[in-house]
Amino acid sequence: QSEIAITNDDVRQLDRSYVFHSWSMQGNLNPMVIAGAKGCELWDYDGNTYLDFSSQLVNVNIGYQHPRVLAAMKAQLDELVTIAPATANLARGEAAKRIVELAPEGFSKVFFTNAGADANENAIRMARMYTGRDKVFSAYRSYHGNTGSAIAATGDWRRVPNEYSRGHVHFFNPYLYRSEFNATSEAEECERALAHLRRMIECEGPTSIAAILLESIPGTAGILVPPAGYMQGVRALADEFGIVLILDEVMAGFGRTGSWFAFEQDGVVPDLITFAKGVNAGYVPAGGVLISAPISHYFDDHFFAGGLTYSGHPLAMAAIVATLDAMKEEKVVENAAAVGNGVLRPGLDALAAKHPLIGNVRGRGMFQAMELVSDRKHKTPLAATDMAAIKTALTQAGVLSFVVENRIHVVPPCTMSAEEVTRGLAIFDRVLSQFGYLSR
Ligand code: PLP
Repeated sequence: QSEIAITNDDVRQLDRSYVFHSWSMQGNLNPMVIAGAKGCELWDYDGNTYLDFSSQLVNVNIGYQHPRVLAAMKAQLDELVTIAPATANLARGEAAKRIVELAPEGFSKVFFTNAGADANENAIRMARMYTGRDKVFSAYRSYHGNTGSAIAATGDWRRVPNEYSRGHVHFFNPYLYRSEFNATSEAEECERALAHLRRMIECEGPTSIAAILLESIPGTAGILVPPAGYMQGVRALADEFGIVLILDEVMAGFGRTGSWFAFEQDGVVPDLITFAKGVNAGYVPAGGVLISAPISHYFDDHFFAGGLTYSGHPLAMAAIVATLDAMKEEKVVENAAAVGNGVLRPGLDALAAKHPLIGNVRGRGMFQAMELVSDRKHKTPLAATDMAAIKTALTQAGVLSFVVENRIHVVPPCTMSAEEVTRGLAIFDRVLSQFGYLSR
């Protein structure tokens, strides 16, 4: 009796019949089908394989099907698969201890959530309770998740149909390539962005502002590495006005930039850190808020009005413990720095030198972006249809890419080898040559 082989079409049809997708019109979707994955490679049911330069939604930092993480999850399944958050649980304690130990001095506790959005939701809640203030400042160029306050704090277009939360104020973060401040150097961009933020704080009333929420490096908004001094300037403004500084490390954290947290490279220490994605590479949904001692102690004798049924779910916690241990022992963060800064980035710079389509390259470690333009002088963003065609060509050539607007975010797993990066870059080179005619 022969088994009937599953095809991509079978899985796609099943999906299209029953699954409702995120951020889309449901009518004409054609989702990619993936059957399996290992390391940095994925495959479908029809025999196609792909090298991953997307880490899915920039979360599979440790690569796919890491044997050690899978083994820890299987052991946790046999031991205890679920337990309420009010209990003390070994895996939860071990996960929290490891995360606190990675944080800068002065951080003391972790509140676990299901993902990144509710991490920001709860960080905002903590800041409001701690300060007794209401307003939350965040950047127009940002994404913080799709729940009430997190989507209202988000700056990009996805906020607009979801603006039901009160007290959110947006400001422009620095982005020299498309400066809002007419700046011509990083130093000027930094200075003017900080002056703008100061004026916004003054005009909104400093004593009404609970928190400034910022991605350490805005990710989906374009991997906008802040200029030297900007994060320190924001920290100084927060200190001056008694505002809680929340840094969102959901995408940039856990090795992505070549350090455990992205903000470490900017010489700042926030008051709250939100995380998710890379903490366990998304093997089980999990996120959380890392809480500095003063805020954590405040809640020793003030009621924390927040909670989730699955806060610190044992299976997610076991995946965190094993992911962090494996990352340390296998030097995954060091790999992200060495291969990201030493192979990937020079490779992208070489592509930019060859292809006029590439207007700008920026990033740190395994967190890089190329901005594609039809005209370098005027920085004209490449049209959406052209970007879609490039993405399709990359996929057909065997590379999974992360395309946002006119950008390709080049964000492979932090475990990717120099050889794999080089192999992928050769495919980028070929595909960009194919589309060279789009550049004027
Ligand atoms: N914060 C940042 C910086 C993100 O990139 C994301 C998701 O992409 C989120 C928050 C939301 O995380 P989640 O989708 O896990 O809720």
